[in-house]
Amino acid sequence: MTEMINAIKTCLKIGNSDTMRRRVGARRLSAIVPGCETLTGDQYLECMARTKVVRTNHQVGTARMGDPNNPYTVVDSLLKVKGMENLRVVDACVMPTVPFGNTNILTIMVAEKASDIIKSTINCFTQNPFISQNKLPSSPYYQKPPLSPNVIL
Ligand SMILES: Cc1cc2nc3c(=O)[nH]c(=O)nc-3n(C[C@H](O)[C@H](O)[C@H](O)COP(=O)(O)OP(=O)(O)OC[C@H]3O[C@@H](n4cnc5c(N)ncnc54)[C@H](O)[C@@H]3O)c2cc1C
Repeated sequence: MTEMINAIKTCLKIGNSDTMRRRVGARRLSAIVPGCETLTGDQYLECMARTKVVRTNHQVGTARMGDPNNPYTVVDSLLKVKGMENLRVVDACVMPTVPFGNTNILTIMVAEKASDIIKSTINCFTQNPFISQNKLPSSPYYQKPPLSPNVIL
C-alpha cells in the first residue's frame, strides 16, 4: 500500500507540475472519491487506491496457446484443448502474453483464424446432413441436430 500511495503522489506531482499545468492545461479533478470524504492526506490516498482500483480489461492467458509439452499451456497451435477431443478455445484467453495493442481486434483475428482452421477440417458437403441431402429445414421449430461423431471440431 505504501508503494501505491507513493505512486499516486508521483502522479499528482507530475500532473501538478508547472509544465503540465501551463503547456498541457492539466488540472486536478475536484471530485472526491465516494466513501473517502472524511479522510485527508495519505489516508485519503489509501482509501482512493482501495476504492478505485480497476482492471484494465485486457486480461489474457488463462488458456494460453503454446507448445503442448509445456505444462503451462492449455491449447495447441490449432486452438485445441490439450488432452480433449472436439474442444477448442477461441477468445482472448489463448493469447500467451498481454499484447502491445488493444485486445479486441486481436480477439477477432483469433476468431477469424479459428474459423479457417475449423473449415479446413470439415467438408461441409459430405458432413452436413442437410446440405448433402440437398434438403434444408423449413420448420420454425427446427432444432439443430448434434454433429455427427466424425466431425472434428
Ligand atoms: C469496458 C471495456 C472496455 C474495453 N475497451 C477496449 C478497447 O477500446 N479496445 C480493445 O481492443 N479492447 C477493449 N476491451 C477489451 C476487449 O473487449 C476484450 O479483450 C475482448 O472482448 C475479449 O474477447 P473474449 O472473446 O476473450 O472475451 P469476451 O468478449 O468477454 O467474451 C467471453 C464470452 O464468454 C461468455 N462466457 C463466459 N463464461 C462462460 C461460460 N461458463 N459458459 C458460456 N459462456 C461463457 C461470456 O458471456 C462472453 O460472451 C475492453 C473491455 C472492456 C470490459
